[in-house]
This record gives sequence, structure tokens and C-alpha cells, in this order.
Amino acid sequence: MGQTAYEAQRKQMVRTQIKARGISHSTTLTAMLNVPRHQFVPEQQKPLAYSDRPLPIGKGQTISQPYIVAYMTQALKPKRTDRVLEIGTGSGYQAAVLSEIVDTVYTMEIVKELAFDSDKRLKQLGYNNILVRHGDGYNGWPEKAPFDAIMVTAGAETIPQPLLDQLKIGGRMIIPVGPHNSVRQLVSIIKKKDRLIKKNVMPVRFVPFTRDKNQKKD
Ligand code: SAH
Repeated sequence: MGQTAYEAQRKQMVRTQIKARGISHSTTLTAMLNVPRHQFVPEQQKPLAYSDRPLPIGKGQTISQPYIVAYMTQALKPKRTDRVLEIGTGSGYQAAVLSEIVDTVYTMEIVKELAFDSDKRLKQLGYNNILVRHGDGYNGWPEKAPFDAIMVTAGAETIPQPLLDQLKIGGRMIIPVGPHNSVRQLVSIIKKKDRLIKKNVMPVRFVPFTRDKNQKKD
């Protein structure tokens, strides 16, 4: 399929799956129109790249449904000057969408091969404001903290304390939380000086947040 055919599919995806379901944040919509989703899926999945569903990306992982990517991006309230941490690089697609909007994206992936492949893919596509790191995102990326916003794209059983610690005062976090093998809640968090404001925003299904056994202390 040619580039123009993919572009037409992408426009249709934004119109029918994203705008039609109430996403209105303009930089999110522009980013979803710009990022070539078909470049983030395995060859055999390319014909389905713009369909209304998550897709397998290998290693038992998935690239999220376009609507969920757009929803989480809008919910994070990303701004031009933000430095954002993403946990769960996967294909690198969500990082690419965020990078179209913000200053810098720091993204961590626990599966080494996915981290390596996504780093290579993002560089080849010309995304030069994304840093990919292989590692257990439970501990965040302390050397680059604090962050204006943090997005977790794997389903966690609890909210990792190190991530809350690495959020600026006034910073935002979005994370799917709940028991494994069941529907979780997408939780939106704002860190105030002396408290967290938490809101459940919608039920979601996500692949599990896993832990590196060597690092797991709790
Ligand atoms: N954002 C991705 C999709 C995420 S799928 C995209 O746009 O394609 C969830 C990813 O989180 C998987 O690749 C999984 O390996 C990764 N993951 C799970 N637990 C993790 C952890 N503790 N630290 C970092 N990455 C993790």
C-alpha cells in the first residue's frame, strides 16, 4: 500500500474513531494525523494498522487501540514545554504521538528487544526528542526527574511510589490500575503540594506491568 493510501486511512481513523468519540484537544488530533502508525506494527499487521483495535507487536505485547492512545494523550494535558516520562515503550507509537506535542519524551521498556527496536525505529523516522531506555519502569528515571507528566501504558496493580516521587508539583499522571487479568481503571492523578487528586476516568484493558526480578524489592 502506498503512502497516500495510508494517509487516507489515517484521516479516516481520526475522523471516525477519535473525533467522533469526543476527543477535541487540537494538538492531540494533529499528532494522531501526523504519526505513521503503520510504521510501528509488524509487516503482516500493516493492513490493519488503522483499524479500531490493539494489535500484536511480538513478545506477547500490543500497540494500544488508536482511541486509547488519543484518550490518554488528551487526558495528560500535554504542553509544548513539557518533559514527559512514559513507562511501556512497546512499539514506540505512543511516545511518537507525545513527542509531536511536548519538548522531550523519556520512555522506558522492560523487554530489551522491544526497547532496542523502538529506539531504532524512532531514530529512523526522525524523532529526535525521544530517549528510549531499557529497564524496569517501576523505579522511573531518577536522573531525568522531575517530570511535568508521566504516562504508564501497562496495567499496574498499584501506583508505583517512585513515579509519584518523580512528578513535579502540579504534574499529571495517567495510569491503568487494577488486578491482573481483569478490567482496570484508567486513573488520572494531579500532584498537589500536600496531596494527590485521583480520578477514575474509564475502564480499560492493558497488558500487565511486569517487574524485573533482580530489581524487585517490594
Ligand atoms: N505504549 C506502547 C504500548 C504499550 S504495551 C505503544 O505505543 O506501542 C505495554 C508495554 O509495557 C509492553 O511493551 C511491556 O513490555 C511494557 N512493560 C511492562 N512492564 C514494564 C515495566 N515495569 N517497565 C517498563 N516497561 C514495561
